[in-house]
Amino acid sequence: MAKKYIIVTGGVLSGIGKGVVSASIGRLIKELGLKVNSLKVDPYLNVDAGTMNPNQHGEVFVTEDGYEADLDLGHYERFLGIDMKKFNNMTAGQVYKHVIEKEREGKYLGATVQMVPHVTERIKERIEEIDTEILLIEIGGTVGDIEGEIFLEAVRELSFEKGRDNFMFIHVTFVPYLHVTNEFKTKPTQQSVQLLRRIGIQPDMLLVRTEKEIDPSSLEKIALFGGVPSDYVVNLPDLSNVYEVPKILYEKSIHKLISKKLELTLSNDNNPFMWKCPKTFKNLKIAMISKYLGTDDAYKSIMESIFLSGVNRPELINAEELEEMNEDELNILLSKYQGIIIPGGFGRRAVEGKIKAIEYARENKVPLLGICLGMQLMVIEFARNVLKYDDSNSTEFDPKTPYPVIDLMEEQKKSLNLGGTMRLGSQKIDIIPNTKLSKIYKDKKEIFERHRHRYEVNYKMFEDMFEKGNNTPNKLTISAMTDFVEAVELSDHPFYVGIQYHPEFKTKVGEPHPIFKNFIEEVEKNKKN
Ligand code: GLN
Repeated sequence: MAKKYIIVTGGVLSGIGKGVVSASIGRLIKELGLKVNSLKVDPYLNVDAGTMNPNQHGEVFVTEDGYEADLDLGHYERFLGIDMKKFNNMTAGQVYKHVIEKEREGKYLGATVQMVPHVTERIKERIEEIDTEILLIEIGGTVGDIEGEIFLEAVRELSFEKGRDNFMFIHVTFVPYLHVTNEFKTKPTQQSVQLLRRIGIQPDMLLVRTEKEIDPSSLEKIALFGGVPSDYVVNLPDLSNVYEVPKILYEKSIHKLISKKLELTLSNDNNPFMWKCPKTFKNLKIAMISKYLGTDDAYKSIMESIFLSGVNRPELINAEELEEMNEDELNILLSKYQGIIIPGGFGRRAVEGKIKAIEYARENKVPLLGICLGMQLMVIEFARNVLKYDDSNSTEFDPKTPYPVIDLMEEQKKSLNLGGTMRLGSQKIDIIPNTKLSKIYKDKKEIFERHRHRYEVNYKMFEDMFEKGNNTPNKLTISAMTDFVEAVELSDHPFYVGIQYHPEFKTKVGEPHPIFKNFIEEVEKNKKN
């Protein structure tokens, strides 16, 4: 079978769930027996998302091969159930960087280097690098954005070169509902289809996002103006659970429409759609002590890991507000929660509030999961409050601290650039037997987990503070260590686990990372007590 392409574009507004829709289509096709992979196109000039602020842009998702991606790659990984790689994301920054470097090397042999054909040629090369039966390409942003235009031109050219029959263009748009006049407004959708047509792309399918179910006459109107057969105009109203989307698309027979258009043979066509996402959710109160409060997406993969373990998502607690509170106020606030998560982060803002929450969880035996920065702060809290190393800190926040229990990794001391220079991606970790962590990993001795950090536990200088395995009073147990301390815990606590790596990036639908499962079990026990 020739490779087939599904191109997903967006119209009218961003943030209407184009990523979730694309990933759901991908999963649906995978479920029906075809090999699917995806390419997320981000038309911004950043080379990757590594230097972007999570408050504006959401979390940075880290892949196995150490690429710092846009959080959409996380949707694809969770929905498709396959590990995303660097090649699954293309930014305008990468494309232009490549073209300019090639020009400097003299490889264009004297040609005038232009958007068309040189930039489009590079975009097409990147698309063709992915070997699969069905390639789903999601173009970020909305049609009409200046940055996105060159990518649309490149896929248009490619559809011409590879045969239009091998391409399906799906345009995801939004139809607003006006409450005052009690009607759906289709004009913005008509205009966004026109914009798409102006650059030579006639969509094959329109996925119409709405707040609630749209009336058939509005859909007819969209079909007529959009030049799309009416059965190829499909309404997708808001859903509270995004993991329901693949099932809804199945019920609306999207897979049949796609396979008809692309002439696919779906082997499991008559099977009921199987999708192992939780249907019911335990109501547990978990606090995530946070610094980034600008968007719900800043801690996306942790949120989804909890949700996919069958528990309602954690609540964000502003760590800076904790800093201002006295002990009573803090106790009253945190006593409402049955479990606490301290997520990753950078910079000193809000750090002291997180340390206060750690002290509370340690002393009150509330299940505590510290991830990356969270684990580093657990070490600092232990040094300060148990060992009385006053003003102990990480050199990230206080370069002059008398007790630098967390310090810059040796290999990091030479790098000047901020982009792509951390300890990144999947790294081997040795687990120490007879620890909570070793139980979580079912006695495995060696695991691989994803990293993204510059600082580490200063084991060389503070070896006495720790005990490998065996917990002794006044020592912090190390439960995993290779070249770096990878995990700490306390045995006289129901769940006090700090990990230098990010388990949240490995969660897939139907397969949440075991650390979350174990944490939740303890949170549940704590609720009953
Ligand atoms: N800022 C810390 C470091 O660089 C933690 C990073 C993180 O939480 N991802 O090591």
